[in-house]
Amino acid sequence: MTRSARIALARPLRRLFDYSIPDSLTLSAGQRVQIPFGRQLATGLVVDPDATPPEGVKLKPVHRIFEAWPALPPETLTLLSWAADYYQHPLGECLFLALPPALRRGQPAQRRARSLWRLNANDPDRLATNARRQRELVSWFGQQAGPVDTAAVLRAGFSRAQLKALTDKGLVSETSAALTAPGPDKERAALPPLTNAQKSAFMDIPAGSGQFSATLLYGITGSGKTELYLHYLQQYLATSRQALVMVPEINLTPQTVTRFERYFGTRIAVWHSALNDRERLDTWLRIRDGEPVIVIGTRSAILLPFTSLGVIVVDEEHDSSYKQGEGFRYSGRDLAVYRAHLNRCPVILGSATPSLESLHNVNRGKYRLVRLEERAGNALPPRIRLLDIRSRPLQDGVAVPALSAIRECLESGRQALVFVNRRGFAPVMMCFDCGHMAECPRCDSRLTFHRRDRAMRCHHCDYQTAALDHCPKCHSAAFKPVGHGTERTEESLAAHFPDVPVIRVDRDSTQRKGSINDILTTVNSGQPCILVGTQMLAKGHDFPNVTLVLVINADGGLFSIDFRAPEHLIQTLLQVSGRAGRGEHPGKVIVQTCHSDHPLLQTLCSGHYLTLAEQLLNERSQAGFPPFRAMAILRADGPAMTDSLQFLDAAKQRFDDPRLELWGPLPALIARRADRHRAQLVVLSDHRPRLQQMVAQVCQQLDATRHNPRIRWQIDVDPWETG
Ligand code: ADP
Ligand code: ZN
Ligand code: ZN
Repeated sequence: MTRSARIALARPLRRLFDYSIPDSLTLSAGQRVQIPFGRQLATGLVVDPDATPPEGVKLKPVHRIFEAWPALPPETLTLLSWAADYYQHPLGECLFLALPPALRRGQPAQRRARSLWRLNANDPDRLATNARRQRELVSWFGQQAGPVDTAAVLRAGFSRAQLKALTDKGLVSETSAALTAPGPDKERAALPPLTNAQKSAFMDIPAGSGQFSATLLYGITGSGKTELYLHYLQQYLATSRQALVMVPEINLTPQTVTRFERYFGTRIAVWHSALNDRERLDTWLRIRDGEPVIVIGTRSAILLPFTSLGVIVVDEEHDSSYKQGEGFRYSGRDLAVYRAHLNRCPVILGSATPSLESLHNVNRGKYRLVRLEERAGNALPPRIRLLDIRSRPLQDGVAVPALSAIRECLESGRQALVFVNRRGFAPVMMCFDCGHMAECPRCDSRLTFHRRDRAMRCHHCDYQTAALDHCPKCHSAAFKPVGHGTERTEESLAAHFPDVPVIRVDRDSTQRKGSINDILTTVNSGQPCILVGTQMLAKGHDFPNVTLVLVINADGGLFSIDFRAPEHLIQTLLQVSGRAGRGEHPGKVIVQTCHSDHPLLQTLCSGHYLTLAEQLLNERSQAGFPPFRAMAILRADGPAMTDSLQFLDAAKQRFDDPRLELWGPLPALIARRADRHRAQLVVLSDHRPRLQQMVAQVCQQLDATRHNPRIRWQIDVDPWETG
């Protein structure tokens, strides 16, 4: 009897392919094979090595195996199969996403030797007296737990040339990886002791040995969550085990990696989108080979082939970057919890502003809540004050009392942080004669004016055009920017405070490699300065000398139709506020608003996030929104809105079950984007299994039916964006 296998290919198809297995081969699940596909050879992944061959079909044989071991170890395979089903994304695409690009392309799974460096002599006097950075590099080496790799040196802000200078002088030399498992005692010695509050939180977290547990660590900003993670790993992670620490973004917060590296040395590996293919392959293989690495990674790190995972940490678990916004729309946080289940290991979700989903899981007894409500050291939580700007004159968006507060802050030698929720100079260009506003020709949206590049850009597609100084409709010269983006605020503050640096932090100013490091160097020097930036500034930074935070406008999220908007607004405001007063000096937060009597903002000032979150959960419960009901959105886009709506109308008929509630189809909030007309159908249910079943069934049917070929559709289970 012929043996056959079911194999997944990197194709957007909700199906697998059958191949016969030649006598010479034994296959296992997760293994990488080469198979004939069409006229070519393709890379495949074995899903079932012991399938029943379909009747009456002559199968082609598997051509060869790439390696004897399964590229995807059992738990990774189980996780991905579960996720493909849950999010209704083609299994083949999900599995291949978990391979590094080189292995997807069929290249060999070979590791490159890693260059590691160790300090030979802590003797900076061998260096020229004016070689400041080289001397600093010697002292940096002295602080490390053991040898370090080149990437760690670069991450710490040093250059290859400086490293070479040290090796030339014999201060540092190359060493081989085999010698470098860092001793646990050395790590332990280096960690600062926990504060009393941290100790008691630590005792509340279930011990990490051989059992699943899920903990939601609610720790206010600056309470030392990172310190707790470090202690937890040190205490419970066996030296032979792997760990995963998930973070929203690595490039913006390189200090987090540095903090882990200081204690765990070469056990640390990073995983994020800026790695090149070679780095991806090397790191992936270290993990697959079972090295006891501690991976610090962004969302996709949850798909890595861990073989002996002992602990998972998800830092800033509320962050929206954990949800993939396109293609395989998984939530990295939710997969982390499932993965911990599979591995019978603890998972810690940490945040100062936990998601309502996670708090709901605490209320249902699924997660344990651990609270850490004191800041580390002498730091006090910042005071938040609302500044109503309805009848106050603004100077380029900033009210006079806010300007005085900035002045006072700078004069006392401290730093101020100004939060603006959009980048560019101004979100709108408007003619004051005829009322015309510059719009994107391809989207239903206005163009943002970027003064620095003299361009008008669409933030929803890649359209851009040279900035105009006359109205294109009536040729009036009164064609002017309206509203405030980061560039404009930067410019006006620079004019008000000519003697201090004004540093802008947004997607535009941080594009260049290394620019975030330059910014952090200036801020960490502690000299008075003003930081102006977007969301980016809210993410986990530790700026000890920032004592004032100013929020230019808090009102965007107050009246949005997105049911998550109030939650996100509060989280962002508390996270930015959390950047103030983390050092010895108390922090102050000023929030400019036109709605100072709004209950949400009022409660924000009283400052207790958990109270606020319970209120929001109540509202969600009454409205029947997630997390109280399961939700999925079927989206369609096409060259005309009628076609998109028609497609969804037809799809709606297929969701025929009284336990489902259907909303729509309706045009999306931005109905036209890049010339595609977008519509959506919302599916809600009290009964998650039924919703999952119906969604799976409808996706299968939509795949199998012929429909308007110009329509593209996607399903989004547990959507984070509902516009
Ligand atoms: P969070 O992640 O909760 O915002 P961090 O872990 O970044 O807080 O800690 C805030 C600051 O307090 C950091 O500068 C950190 O080094 C310091 N810190 C936290 N815990 C301790 C401790 N036990 N001893 C000394 N410093 C600490
Ligand atoms: Zn005009
Ligand atoms: Zn556009």
